Amino acid sequence: MKKLTTTAVVLAAGQGKRMNSAVQKQYLLIDNKPVLYYALKAFEESIIDDVVLVTGKDEIDFCQKEIIEKYGIGKVRTITAGGKERYHSVACGLSVIQWECDYVFIHDGARPFVDRDMIERAFACVQETSACVVGMPVKDTIKLADESGYVKSTPDRSMVWQIQTPQVFEKELIADAYQKLIANEDALKNANVPITDDAMVVEYFMNIPIKLVEGSYRNIKITTPEDLQLAETLVSL
Ligand code: C5P
Repeated sequence: MKKLTTTAVVLAAGQGKRMNSAVQKQYLLIDNKPVLYYALKAFEESIIDDVVLVTGKDEIDFCQKEIIEKYGIGKVRTITAGGKERYHSVACGLSVIQWECDYVFIHDGARPFVDRDMIERAFACVQETSACVVGMPVKDTIKLADESGYVKSTPDRSMVWQIQTPQVFEKELIADAYQKLIANEDALKNANVPITDDAMVVEYFMNIPIKLVEGSYRNIKITTPEDLQLAETLVSL
């Protein structure tokens, strides 16, 4: 049987304004290594065949020298420049995959604690379902709010998941979904629909169920300064 091929698109463009830092969050240090190093290392040590790294165009050299060469990361096949919004960066990453690739793992470079087992769970799942996203059931009660800041409703907590990455799809499926998104970008903007993950793109444009896969509560996204402190603790455990 033919070996299934996998590419990870690791996202490290964007400014990360919520960090209030001159240095972009993906290059801040956890235990003296850049946040982005950790995800690249996890994919390096996993079943993934190839990696596309998406960064700002001014950071391509830095990533090449200070992360890929310095830490001997061998699977990054291309470093490409991202775009204004996360979904632009994903579209840029998908467009450079011109090699054999059955499944794409889209991952936030700002999530350093993705690990080999999680990647394998998602890989096993996507072969059954064509589309899956990693996440965890929420711990807190979640309220939906109205525009005035009042409670509108309370979903059953056992059915609410917080969604993480990697988000994993058949290559053709996600490439089609993103092509449709880019073609309909203005309509979505006019309808005020912010696209914050990849599953949303599949939900909007493809008639495919998306399976939830267990991630981990460690798989945090570095977004605000407290996250970096938490990451320092998690990396030492
Ligand atoms: O901003 P947010 O926290 O949602 O970003 C999630 C991931 O997407 C981060 O790893 C960030 O580097 C990436 N991103 C990107 N291009 C953008 C915005 C965010 O690659 N324009």
